[in-house]
Amino acid sequence: MTIETRGFQTEARQLLHLMIHSLYSNREIFLRELISNASDAIDKLRFESLTDDTLIADDPEFRIRIEFDADAKTLAIADNGIGMTRAEVTEQLGTIAKSGTAEFFERLTGDQRQDAQLIGQFGVGFYSAFMVADEVEVVTRKAGTDEGTCWKSKGEDEFTIEAAEADRGTRVVLHLKPDAQEFAESFRLKTVVRKYSDHIGVPVVMPADSDGEGEDAEDAEAAAEEVINSATALWTRSRSEIKDDEYKELYKHVSHDFEDPLAWSHNRVEGRLEYTSLVFVPRRAPFDLWNRESPRGVKLYVQRVFIMDDAEQFLPLYLRFVRGIVDSNDLPLNVSREILQEDPAVATIRNALAKRVLDTLSRLKGDDYDAFWDEFGQVLKEGIAEDFANRESIMKLLRFSSTEQDGEEQRTSFSDYVARMQEGQDRIYYLIADNLSAARQSPHLEVFRQRGIEVLLLTERIDEWFMTFVNEFDGKALQDVTRGELDLDGEGKPEDESDEDALAKRIKDVLESRVESVRRSTRLTDSPACLVLGEHDIGAQMRRLMEASGQSVPDSKPHFEFNPDHPLVLKLDSEADEDRFGDLVKVLFDQASLAEGQSLSDPGDYVRRVNSLLLELLA
Ligand code: ADP
Repeated sequence: MTIETRGFQTEARQLLHLMIHSLYSNREIFLRELISNASDAIDKLRFESLTDDTLIADDPEFRIRIEFDADAKTLAIADNGIGMTRAEVTEQLGTIAKSGTAEFFERLTGDQRQDAQLIGQFGVGFYSAFMVADEVEVVTRKAGTDEGTCWKSKGEDEFTIEAAEADRGTRVVLHLKPDAQEFAESFRLKTVVRKYSDHIGVPVVMPADSDGEGEDAEDAEAAAEEVINSATALWTRSRSEIKDDEYKELYKHVSHDFEDPLAWSHNRVEGRLEYTSLVFVPRRAPFDLWNRESPRGVKLYVQRVFIMDDAEQFLPLYLRFVRGIVDSNDLPLNVSREILQEDPAVATIRNALAKRVLDTLSRLKGDDYDAFWDEFGQVLKEGIAEDFANRESIMKLLRFSSTEQDGEEQRTSFSDYVARMQEGQDRIYYLIADNLSAARQSPHLEVFRQRGIEVLLLTERIDEWFMTFVNEFDGKALQDVTRGELDLDGEGKPEDESDEDALAKRIKDVLESRVESVRRSTRLTDSPACLVLGEHDIGAQMRRLMEASGQSVPDSKPHFEFNPDHPLVLKLDSEADEDRFGDLVKVLFDQASLAEGQSLSDPGDYVRRVNSLLLELLA
C-alpha cells in the first residue's frame, strides 16, 4: 500500500502555523468546529439518501460519536455522514478554498494577539484541531464507495494520504498535546460538547462510563452509550424555551463566525405558507462583503431536512450579511436553485425576511446599532435602490456625519435632523464630498454655518448614487447644497438676473465655455467664489463610479458663483487692466475647483498665474 506525502497549500500552512503558535485563548472551540463539520456531513448524506436510500442502508441511524482514551491520550470525533473520497480529502484538508483568503492573509500583522482575533473572524474549521493535537488522523469513507482513506498530519508542512479500512463517514482522531490532556476526560468533554452541540439535530453520543477508564471498552461500548445533547434542531423548539446562549451557538455553527451575533429574529409562520425562519445579524463584516459573487444566503431545510447552504434567493442582495436558517414545509425536498429562483413562495418568504431583518435592526439601540452601522451601513444603502417596498424603513436606518456632530462617525439619522430643523426650514440639506475634512471645509457650508442650519455630510463612494433614489423624508425635500440656486429665505430668484449683472458678464467673458453661467452667490460668507452643479448634473463622485464601470459620462459645466462682498471680488470689480482681471478670475475659478476637492485641468497654468500675482505683490 502506498503512502503519498503532500505539501499543504501556502495559505493552509500559514493558517496551521498560526493555529499552533498563536495560542488561542479559548482552545476548546476546536470541538465545536469538528462537531459542526460532522453534523454538516450528516446533513449532506441525509439529503442524498432521500433519492438513494441504499447509501445509508449499512448504518441508518445517524449519530456523532465522541471517544477518548486517557492512556493513549487520544480523542476521536466520528460521524456516519457523507465522508470523503481520497481526492476530496486531499483537496479539502490540504487547501483553504474560502473566498477572502488572500485578503485575510494580507491583514495578518504578526502580532499574536491581534492575529488570533482575526483567525476568529476568518473561521478556522478543521485546522483548529491542531491547537490541541500534535498529530491528527482522519479516516474516512465516502457513502456509496468501498475505498477508505487515511489522512495524517503533524500540522507542519505536509500530510500523508493512504488507503485504509474505514466505516462510512469520517473519524477524526486527535493525539492530544501534553498540555491538552483535559480533552481526554469524560466530565470536561461532556461539558464542552453540551455547550457547543446542544442545538445540533443529530445525537452526539459518548461512552456512559463517566471516569473514562473503560478497561473493557470493547464490550461495554455499544451498550453503555449516552446521548449528551438534546438532538432536536433548535429552531423547531419554541422561542420561550431557547436560551440566548443556544441561539449564539447555533449562529456560530451556521456562520462559522467565532463572535456572538449582534441580534437575531426567530419566527414560525403558519397559514398559506408554513415555514420557520431564524435570521442573525453578525457583529462583524466578512472579508468578502464587497464581492457580489461570494456565497451568501441562508441554510435551507425542508421539513427539518437540510437541503442546501447559501440559499441566496431568500434574502435581497443588500442584506447579504445576514446569516440564518429557513425551514419550509411547502417546498419539495428535491428543490433546486433553479426552482428557488422561480418559486413564488420563495419570493414571499424573501419579502417577509427582509421586513423582519429591517425590523430587527430598527430595534437595535445605542452602541449595538452604531456597531452595526459602522460594519454594514454602506451595504444597507444599496437597499434604497434595490428594495423600493422597504425604502421608508431603510431610510430610518441611515446614519450620516453632520455639521452638528463632531468626529468621524456617522451617527445622525434623518429623524435626528428633522427634530433639529429650524422654524420655517422645509428642506433637509446635505453635502457630498470625498472625505470629511473636505466636506467640513467646503465653501458651500458658509451660509449654513452663518445661519445655524444643519447640513448632513456624505462622504462614502456610493452616496451620490443612492441619494438619487431619495427625494424626501417625512415630507421634507432633500437638497444637495452644491446644486442649483440656493434660496434659503424662499424669496425666489434674486433681483440681479445673471445676464444683466455687469461683473458677472465680464467674468463670463473670461471663463467662456468653462462654465454654464456666472452669478452672484447667496451661499458664501468667507470665500470669494464657488462652483455649483446644475440640479440634474452628474457630480464628481458619480462620474468616477460611472467611468470606473466603463460608461461614458456626458460633460456638464458648473455654474460659477461669486461673493459680491468679498474684498477680492470688490478689487476685481474695480480692476481696469483686462489681462490682470482675466488672471484673477482664472485663479478664483481654479481655487473654487480646488475647494471642491477636484484636480485642476492645468495645474501648471494655475501655479504660474499665482506666482506672477505674488511677484507683483512683493515687488
Ligand atoms: P469549512 O467547514 O468551513 O468548509 P473546514 O476546514 O472545517 O472548513 O473543512 C473543510 C472541508 O472539509 C469541509 O468543507 C468539508 O468538505 C470537509 N470536511 C471536514 N470535516 C468533514 C467531515 N467530518 N465529513 C466530511 N467532510 C468533512
